[in-house]
Amino acid sequence: TRRSLLRLRDVPSVTRDGVPVHLHANVELPSEVEAVSQSGAEGIGLVRSEFLYMNRDSLPGVEEQAEAFRTLIEHMKGRPVTIRTLDLGGEKLGDALDIKAGANPALGLRAVRLSLTRTELLRTQYAAILRAACHGPARILLPMVCTVDEVRAARGILNEVVASFRAEGQALPDPLPPLGVMIEVPAAALSADALAREVDFFAIGTNDLTQYALAIDRTDEAVAHLYDPLHPAVLRLIHFATGAAQAAGIPVSLCGEMAGDPRLTALLFGLGVRELSMAAYAIPAVKQRVRRITQDSAREHAHRILGQPDARHIAALVDSFSGG
Ligand code: PEP
Ligand code: MG
Repeated sequence: TRRSLLRLRDVPSVTRDGVPVHLHANVELPSEVEAVSQSGAEGIGLVRSEFLYMNRDSLPGVEEQAEAFRTLIEHMKGRPVTIRTLDLGGEKLGDALDIKAGANPALGLRAVRLSLTRTELLRTQYAAILRAACHGPARILLPMVCTVDEVRAARGILNEVVASFRAEGQALPDPLPPLGVMIEVPAAALSADALAREVDFFAIGTNDLTQYALAIDRTDEAVAHLYDPLHPAVLRLIHFATGAAQAAGIPVSLCGEMAGDPRLTALLFGLGVRELSMAAYAIPAVKQRVRRITQDSAREHAHRILGQPDARHIAALVDSFSGG
């Protein structure tokens, strides 16, 4: 019941055999902080900063963004807040930036590609995050990364913004925010070992990973019935990326819709995921699942699933799994 789920807020998120699974919240706007606190989230695993850019004609500046991020950071009282840089394309920002939409926005000049083309966008966001991070721990997350070069370019610009803060005598957070990447394109998942050497953490975005792995437009009703994150290809990409992060010793979280589905908690744990970020309301039910899992049963469950030929067989195993 709802009340027993609420009671879960204050119990730790650990498996039956004592392995912690960190449960974080996804947020879009600062107004959601109250719901995050209510949920018992250990942090904010994804701030979708593009929501600060939507439904307006002008671009938000450093001041406005710093204020929004600071609200979230102060509210979390020392728990980490992961802020993703702009994840939009020309179809949304065309007017404000004087750029064309492109024939296929999902494959076009968007997300980190746009930020690296119009670097003033990235500089503004970095400056806002650095300012806000003086008030508590923050992490910077780059969306839709495909190559190591993109990470190097984005880190280079971060270093420049930090240097300009120093030159101007502006306060900087200590330590500086870690820089991570979304793993949400198959190219990134399959080169996760190389990316892991360049970044401080991964966040696996299964919404886009599914879209790009299966060549299904997330927004196209005509193919919505084919969209299935339980396709073995998607699970293998998650498994590979998680293994690469573990081998490199960097944290990896999963923040797509899958993270909030309690039916999938044991599977994701079995694939190696130890941090999940989801809509705040989903946290209690997922925590309840975490507390029933044992490492051995979840690993065996995931292993069996990775041997299945298709999403239908996988869904059947997911539904019949009783070990957590
Ligand atoms: C994802 O792609 O899984 C993700 C978390 O990002 P978004 O849903 O904002 O694209
Ligand atoms: Mg995404």
